[in-house]
Amino acid sequence: MSDAVDAHQVVVALDVGGTGMKCALVRPDGVTVRTERHPTNASRGPTAVVGTILDVAEGLAEKARADGLTPIAVGIAVPGVVDEARGVAVWSANVGFRDVPLRDLAVRRLGLPTTLGHDVRVGGLAEARLGAGRGTGHVLFVAIGTGIAAAHVVDGRAAVGAHDAAGEIGHILVRPDGPRCGCGRPGCLEAIASASAIGRRYAELSGATADAPVTAAEVAERAAAGEPLAGEVWQEAVEALADGLATGQALYDVATIVLGGGLAQAGDRLLTPLRAALHERMTFHREPRLVAAALGDEAGCLGAALLALDAVGVRDHQEKR
Ligand SMILES: [Zn+2]
Repeated sequence: MSDAVDAHQVVVALDVGGTGMKCALVRPDGVTVRTERHPTNASRGPTAVVGTILDVAEGLAEKARADGLTPIAVGIAVPGVVDEARGVAVWSANVGFRDVPLRDLAVRRLGLPTTLGHDVRVGGLAEARLGAGRGTGHVLFVAIGTGIAAAHVVDGRAAVGAHDAAGEIGHILVRPDGPRCGCGRPGCLEAIASASAIGRRYAELSGATADAPVTAAEVAERAAAGEPLAGEVWQEAVEALADGLATGQALYDVATIVLGGGLAQAGDRLLTPLRAALHERMTFHREPRLVAAALGDEAGCLGAALLALDAVGVRDHQEKR
């Protein structure tokens, strides 16, 4: 770890999602100097997607050099199952990866040390070190979108797990008689409280058709406007989330829970009732601070950069507590 961070150094960072890639050049102090977005076009198949990832990363490294900057590392975040130690994208439903040795492919193409990370874990890393959890040491980052996943970050490091599968908080059993989850079991948290589950539940009870789906954001809005059915569905989700987070707090005893993903954009419509429901569930546990994510959809890219910087031993002093 060097105290004198070279102001010309940058990391090439990519956050690869099912629909798009967020890409950036990030300085060791976490400042982004250039951003780009590219479509993933996952339907082309994993080989083509890998080709685009490598082209985009190489293009960013070249642009950095043209601007007088020195790319020192590459950080790539992908969804699904990621073997961080071997740098392999093991499996991903929405990008189609099956055992892709992405790290070695990037090293070969760019000649730079490369780190592969998991999208939610690196997002949590960024929120814990640069965002809403900054300065609090123990952070649970929970991303709520089509699914629910979490990252447990302690002193700036996200736990990966023995089998690269830490943080699957969406599959905590909260309602044994509840709807069936995508994993096959009934009653998982994400089958009740993910953004897609909330929209689905409202549609089911209101008789809305598949032609006019209702999003979780609309359910939140209708609930706030006093519509009883929306209020009921929203509260069901809040109670389930509080059960899941209370389990999380019992396991991890964090200082701060950061909520990210699409559902967190509901802001106080989510946070206010969720804080109350979580408070009710605390007995001897210390209540965590519950806050919305601060970095928006840049978190994955920043986290990929942080992971890469950690791997090459560069950590900016501004981040140290
Ligand atoms: Zn499940």
